[in-house]
Amino acid sequence: MASTQDLGLNEPEIEQTHQLSTQTKKFEIRIAKTAGICFGVERALNLSEKAIKEKSGPLASLGPIIHNPQKVAELSERGMDVAEDLSSLSGTVVFRSHGVPIETQSLALARGLNIVDATCPLVKVPQNFARKLSQNGYFVVIVGDKAHPEIKGVMSYVQNGEVAVIKSEAEVQGLPEKEKVGIICQTTLNKSVFERVIEKCRARFKEVKVYNTICSATRDRQAAAAELAVEADCMIVIGGRNSSNTQKLLDICKDSLSRAFLVETQEEIRPEWLEGSKVVGITAGASTPHLLIEKIRGCLAQMGNA
Ligand code: SF4
Repeated sequence: MASTQDLGLNEPEIEQTHQLSTQTKKFEIRIAKTAGICFGVERALNLSEKAIKEKSGPLASLGPIIHNPQKVAELSERGMDVAEDLSSLSGTVVFRSHGVPIETQSLALARGLNIVDATCPLVKVPQNFARKLSQNGYFVVIVGDKAHPEIKGVMSYVQNGEVAVIKSEAEVQGLPEKEKVGIICQTTLNKSVFERVIEKCRARFKEVKVYNTICSATRDRQAAAAELAVEADCMIVIGGRNSSNTQKLLDICKDSLSRAFLVETQEEIRPEWLEGSKVVGITAGASTPHLLIEKIRGCLAQMGNA
């Protein structure tokens, strides 16, 4: 699977080797080795900034460019609106990092819109495998959330309608009878879910081809969250409630400890969550700006000193 390095792209990260970031009276605060905004979302934001600077007419992103309402509002004030569909648009449209279905691209071109395509290069990986598998006669099984924009886009690359989207191994038995099955997944999928689906498919179908399309940013964030959750007494997961990768980080933390909480802002943190903790861990989804992580770390430090 292509990595950011393969693609010649650098991925900005918070790299912190589980250092003790703040020593407080009540508890230590540790930040996961890899957390927060990923290179794909950062790239989409940079392309949006460029579009705002060069704009000479109406400009909108198709859906919010990032799962961060404050940032979306700021971009809107500076001239990039959010559109739910193409019907009312003119000028320039920005496709966000999730990508869009092929039909949406065609419709935008037919309407004469300028397109800024901020589809993450790592979302193009499952898109390309979906196309390749269907061209080679495989029934394509996508593991992920059917309602998620990324999956709607990936599905459109299957050329003959021979595709199913499933969320877990429990749904493998409901798949149609096929000779050749090709499995890919949402870039933000939990690795253990993917492995269980593969195992079930191998037990059921004659020929199974697998492409692991979990992106490197997701892999690194999930591994770092799992590692820290084992050491912590309480985990704070920062990110949008509508963000798929943030929800998965929360699930991973909950595998190790019951005190794992998702927050969008520092105001949501409740002192009782932290009671009796010696180590409080922080992780953050791929749309969470580093500035917000720092704010929440500062807020926790104050609570630890209280
Ligand atoms: S989570 Fe992965 S696939 Fe999604 S935008 Fe970030 S780097 Fe790209």
